[in-house]
Amino acid sequence: MAPQLSAPSARTAEQLVSPLMTGLLELYLDLHRHPELSGAEQRTAARLADRLSALGCTVASGIGGHGVVGVLRNGEGPTVVLRTELDALPLVEQTSLAYTAPADLGAMHACGHDVHIACAVGAAALLAQDTDTWRGTLVVLGQPAEEDLSGAQALLDDGLERYTGRPDVILAQHVTPLPAGYVAHAPGPVTAAGATLELRVHGRGGHSGLPQLAANPVPAAAGIIVALHALQAREPVVVTIGTVHSGTRPNIIPDVVTLGLSLRAATAAAVERAIAEVGRIARACCAAAGLSQPPELIRGAESPAGVNDPEAARLVRAAHERAFGAARIAALPPSTATDDFPRLAALGGGAPVPTVYWMLGSAGAQRWRDAPGASAAEKAAALPANHSPAFAPDPAPTLRTGVAALHAAARAFLALP
Ligand SMILES: [Zn+2]
Ligand SMILES: [Zn+2]
Repeated sequence: MAPQLSAPSARTAEQLVSPLMTGLLELYLDLHRHPELSGAEQRTAARLADRLSALGCTVASGIGGHGVVGVLRNGEGPTVVLRTELDALPLVEQTSLAYTAPADLGAMHACGHDVHIACAVGAAALLAQDTDTWRGTLVVLGQPAEEDLSGAQALLDDGLERYTGRPDVILAQHVTPLPAGYVAHAPGPVTAAGATLELRVHGRGGHSGLPQLAANPVPAAAGIIVALHALQAREPVVVTIGTVHSGTRPNIIPDVVTLGLSLRAATAAAVERAIAEVGRIARACCAAAGLSQPPELIRGAESPAGVNDPEAARLVRAAHERAFGAARIAALPPSTATDDFPRLAALGGGAPVPTVYWMLGSAGAQRWRDAPGASAAEKAAALPANHSPAFAPDPAPTLRTGVAALHAAARAFLALP
């Protein structure tokens, strides 16, 4: 996998994007105003498909749900996949932006997948207008349902390979509250292994005035919630209880409490140990509360840890250093974020396809300057993060660098004419 082409030189990488900016901002704002939840990305997928068709890509839609693939064949050479997610989150946006998503949609692009879509379209546009300078196949992949960690597997199960063959490399970037204009790289692990769980604590419902005739599952669930925090002290694992549902009225003892859990750790084995521990803690709390029925632990979506292919990651980093200068490349510390992107390494079968994933700064200059804190880490922590209803990438500088970063990375693998 030797680099065949050099990336555009430092001054030109983002200048190349300038003529596309009006169209890309229009796409970004349209997507931002029309967020769609995981599995319901119909409109978003159609917008992406339209843009890719207009660039001359052969487009297929409805793969693994609302998955979209746009293929630009340009002679013999490597196949490079640029992956973007399509889905938004069930949040009501709380920013003061002029293009806020309407509250009645009950969704928001709080993870920045709208940025990723516009960046992938921009990179494809640059390559489509420049086909005499490279050879190979460019694939833009719009993946549905990333937020529930199901979409990548659904694409594979629905025969994504029919459209892509076995690619030579799969690339993805993700926005983060670092300064716009920067990218962050890691040579190895980039995202954590994760699992979602539903834990049902069963009691016996009844009248609140007659608790001796019922078995209230709520105190047991409260005990489980407190005890699960001790788990984090024993093993480097992040346990988040994101949902707690039970009951209808204060004077009715409910039958069941349902907890929604998210677990993250460095490896799938550590996640597995944590799941077993959650089960033990839940059973012990239920027994201590005198509930006769053991709790149910239902496994949901899981994703493996994301580990960059070292050689491919080195090529992308080198391309970004040429494009942006070494001063604009930040080091990416180990993360507890999860993404089902690593599953795509199984595309085409056989040995895993090399994957590279990097982070893209999204905080505008003013916002970054105003963020409290002396160090970059303090400032990044002070800004609203992904999945916050106040998450607000600065579109123009983020798209400019994001398009240039994907373009430079793709060119690092495509062949010379
Ligand atoms: Zn997310
Ligand atoms: Zn995301």
